[in-house]
Amino acid sequence: LPASSIAPLKCSRADGIHTQEETDGNPIYDPHVIDAKMVQKLVYDGLVWSSLHGLVVGDRAVQRSGTVPGVGMVHAPFSLLPMAFPEGHWKQAGELAPIFNELIDRVSLDGQFLQDSLSRTKRVDEFTSRLLDIHARMMEINKKEEIRLGLNRSDYMLDAQTKLLLQIEFNTISSSFPGLSCLVSKLHRNLLSHYGIHLGLDYVKVPKNAAVDQFADALAKAWCEYNNSRAIVMIVVQPEERNMYDQHWLSALYNTHGVATVRKTLAEIDGESELLADGTLIINGEAVAVVYLRAGYAPTDYPSESEWRARLLMEQSSAIKCPSVAYHLAGTKKIQQELAKPNVLERFLNDKDDIDRLRKCFAGLWSLDDSDAVRDAIERPELYVMKPQREGGGNNIYGDDVRENLLRLQNEGTEENAAYILMQRIFPTVSPAFLIRQGICHKEHAISELGVYGAYLRNKERVIVNEQCGYLMRTKVSTSNEGGVAAGFAVLDSLYLT
Ligand code: ADP
Ligand code: MG
Ligand code: MG
Repeated sequence: LPASSIAPLKCSRADGIHTQEETDGNPIYDPHVIDAKMVQKLVYDGLVWSSLHGLVVGDRAVQRSGTVPGVGMVHAPFSLLPMAFPEGHWKQAGELAPIFNELIDRVSLDGQFLQDSLSRTKRVDEFTSRLLDIHARMMEINKKEEIRLGLNRSDYMLDAQTKLLLQIEFNTISSSFPGLSCLVSKLHRNLLSHYGIHLGLDYVKVPKNAAVDQFADALAKAWCEYNNSRAIVMIVVQPEERNMYDQHWLSALYNTHGVATVRKTLAEIDGESELLADGTLIINGEAVAVVYLRAGYAPTDYPSESEWRARLLMEQSSAIKCPSVAYHLAGTKKIQQELAKPNVLERFLNDKDDIDRLRKCFAGLWSLDDSDAVRDAIERPELYVMKPQREGGGNNIYGDDVRENLLRLQNEGTEENAAYILMQRIFPTVSPAFLIRQGICHKEHAISELGVYGAYLRNKERVIVNEQCGYLMRTKVSTSNEGGVAAGFAVLDSLYLT
């Protein structure tokens, strides 16, 4: 092996990192036992495999890597070996996917529920307020979304102490990594098929992952429902996107289904699109059947009125929006917290069994109106997470900052507390892991978050698709509060059923 390609393993022993004795999980391998030569081989093969198979992202260090495909690529951060995960919890998470899909669809239809639940948030959160304005305008003109497409991802952590699978959040907009997550599963299966025998691991225990094909299928079926053979799928993107290859994997839509795609930023859509009298959305002369948003989830995606005009125009059109503004709002943390209140699920679902299953995975969720919860969070902030209505990682408040912020909000007596929710902090099992970034392997104590993709499509008469679509495992250093691969906290992983 060329020595230059692999840096020595770094073993983190920073303060606060749990020691081996403190971890209560059952790691599938003992990193102290795997010999360094074997690790080097695995790392090298993993890096080669990633490069050859498109498990790549744009490299921050290269200027045009977020705009020009093929320029400045680097392997996506990944975990060398899959993370152990109990088969029972894996099945449970899969079974929840269609129930959550259905729930969110029903919630999206209850405009008044969305407006009421978010009414106080609206007064203090400008971004949510703009979305609610568009939503209210659609309610006024009685706009109906008869064909509805959800490409969702429900995220979970396995609480170490209670052994409960608890939901972190439900993503209805820009659910990322359907493309790259499939590749990591393939990478791990490939590495284990070569080296598993030496590690005591069997590649068949890494579940196959077809998230990207299933998402492409759902997009193609939505396109069929729109019923205009000349129409295209428009992917709404950020002007600079280093995670573009994950998105390009979905463009396989063209090869497998013959459906053309076009990538446009919100600003471009504002400049290049128009709405016909019958509601058809036209971009550069072509009709748009499906608008698939991989942008528009963060305030920074709307630097000017131009972007908001584009979002409104798309919403007014007859194109199928993935997601509609109603779906987007239904995926906010505030709605997650409202749905966890007693008797709210019953408003949207009939099946008692489904309701029980959903409730079982709800962690503690509170509004900041709840004075008991706030008092306890001030006393024991380490047991809570404070969350604003934001997406994309890096926005939550942890630890002593929870106390400070809650005290500040109390003293100021402002309405700003409506911008946040409080959530029970989940503590997953800590396991050893090899995390690889920029070609360097770090041995760490790590925790994982399982995301399960779900696709949902229906028309006026019937549900056409409602299924689980593969998974995303993300693993991060146990001392890191935040998640997010793109945000730089976590690496892509897959799971090893135990
Ligand atoms: P976002 O929409 O920005 O991804 P999340 O709710 O997923 O927001 O929070 C971001 C990250 O913060 C998660 O990926 C997870 O690592 C961590 N996190 C969120 N909620 C909790 C929680 N209740 N307990 C522990 N960690 C959490
Ligand atoms: Mg999210
Ligand atoms: Mg998240």
